[in-house]
Amino acid sequence: LPRQDPDAPIRQTDNDAAVARLSAVQKHYLDDLFVKHLVPRAHLQPNRPPLINIGTYIRTRGIEDLVDGWLSSAKKQGKKCQIVSLGAGSDTRFWRIATGPHKDTLIKYVEVDFGEITSKKSMSIMKNRELRDVLGGSNHIQITEGGTVLHSRQYHLLAADLRRDPVDTLQEPLTIPSHGSQEPILSPQCPTLLLFECVLAYMEVNVSSRLLQWFVDYFSADGGGAPLGCVIYEMFGLNDPFGRVMLNNLRARSVTLPGAEPFMTLDSLVERLLKTGFHKGWALTLKEIRKSYIEPEELARISRLEMLDETEELELVLAHYAISWSIFVPTAEDKEKWGD
Ligand code: SAM
Repeated sequence: LPRQDPDAPIRQTDNDAAVARLSAVQKHYLDDLFVKHLVPRAHLQPNRPPLINIGTYIRTRGIEDLVDGWLSSAKKQGKKCQIVSLGAGSDTRFWRIATGPHKDTLIKYVEVDFGEITSKKSMSIMKNRELRDVLGGSNHIQITEGGTVLHSRQYHLLAADLRRDPVDTLQEPLTIPSHGSQEPILSPQCPTLLLFECVLAYMEVNVSSRLLQWFVDYFSADGGGAPLGCVIYEMFGLNDPFGRVMLNNLRARSVTLPGAEPFMTLDSLVERLLKTGFHKGWALTLKEIRKSYIEPEELARISRLEMLDETEELELVLAHYAISWSIFVPTAEDKEKWGD
């Protein structure tokens, strides 16, 4: 009998994330014109419970506000920005930014995931005109590595196992000019934001720290490097009874979370970032974001979308997810400009 690929359940989580997003869009929590093109046909009528829709809304808003803040800071300083999304799965953020108010501030957007996921995504892009057109149309898209890698002027999709040493997997594709270009995909002179949306918990903490460290080193290399920001979204604090229920539910689907199992606290999420060289860091739970950072009118609007009778359960779930973010600023001059 063929042995099951141990990473298959991890890759499956991408489908869960995309379907949850489509559900939140169809129920009018979120706007996203592109997500339907990246969800398999069989899931086009998702019906996620209100608790999941609200969670997806808060997580998306939290991350979006940080990404918008980063792009706005760059714009104010007349700079262009790069974004690298690790474990990007079927995420649509590139298309949303590239057609939104910050489109002129974005110079590069790179996504990395397992080859099995990137080949599906590159196929969806090539099959769908709306996705393709944002990349400049088929004539401006190059597909390589058996369909797992896609290059266009602004958007690049790369295949890699993020648990492997980035020197062997990311260094060459990101920092050495290739595919007919004189410049590397990722310039160390350009403000850059790293996104890890629901991905680091799938790898050991020392492995994810090595990955973060590699980026910090690349941006500090010649002393004239540009600011590097990082936004991480993940489960944490799973050592209480409710957290253990969440872990057991995942284990039942063969998903393990080596990165969350040392039972990170909110403080340790920030410490991990500071240890890898980021200068400042912050973290908030989704529960705190819902309570203090989403506008009251928005909360009132989403509360009218669906009946939610389990507010207590919602708060318990939201208290186990956090967004942490940090900044590394290599030059004194930039420290003042990028501050908080
Ligand atoms: N970031 C996307 C989002 O929020 O919609 C997808 C999140 S999904 C829960 C996790 C993603 O991380 C999957 O696409 C999975 O394939 C990817 N992933 C997990 N471990 C990985 C690894 N070691 N290397 C590359 N990708 C990985």
